[in-house]
Amino acid sequence: MTERTFVMLKPDALHRGKVGEIIGQLEETGLQIAAIDIRSPSKELAREHYGPEIAERHGEDVRENLVEYISEFTVIPMVLQGRNAVSKVRDTMGESFDPMECSPGSIRGDLSSYSTDAATEEAIAIPNLIHGAESAEAAENEIDLWFPESEFAAYERPDFDYINDILG
Ligand code: ADP
Ligand code: MG
Repeated sequence: MTERTFVMLKPDALHRGKVGEIIGQLEETGLQIAAIDIRSPSKELAREHYGPEIAERHGEDVRENLVEYISEFTVIPMVLQGRNAVSKVRDTMGESFDPMECSPGSIRGDLSSYSTDAATEEAIAIPNLIHGAESAEAAENEIDLWFPESEFAAYERPDFDYINDILG
């Protein structure tokens, strides 16, 4: 199913020079980049992005640390589109927010050795390189939030179309 998802490279991806590698890994999945930007989001935007449900899931401190983290530094928000974009991105990221629990081959598993314990000790948001929307509905909300007036690029990925053609 063709769908769109929202992805954000977090500040640690920029600070560690991993932007090209991560985008390369996402491109390998066959998804198209429909929008991309580089920004320092306002606190308001950061707080809308990491809403009350994050506090319910992980506690108010984690939410505040996340808001601080992305609003104090620079991030790369993106829209990716293609078949099963939401789950493709989530699978490529790794199976957990804790990099220590992510498989080798995944972005978080390969590129971050942070753990929940280490982040808790330092009272920071776990630097795990990448955010990806968790559902198609969340993706559309996040796209509206980050790219309210953008025109989204539409172009072919002949390699991907070729595979679609063969598989019918
Ligand atoms: P994901 O990013 O995999 O969708 P969540 O939406 O549950 O995970 O959490 C958002 C982010 O909150 C995580 O990516 C991570 O950076 C941060 N986080 C989650 N739990 C903790 C924690 N216990 N301590 C610090 N940061 C955390
Ligand atoms: Mg999440």
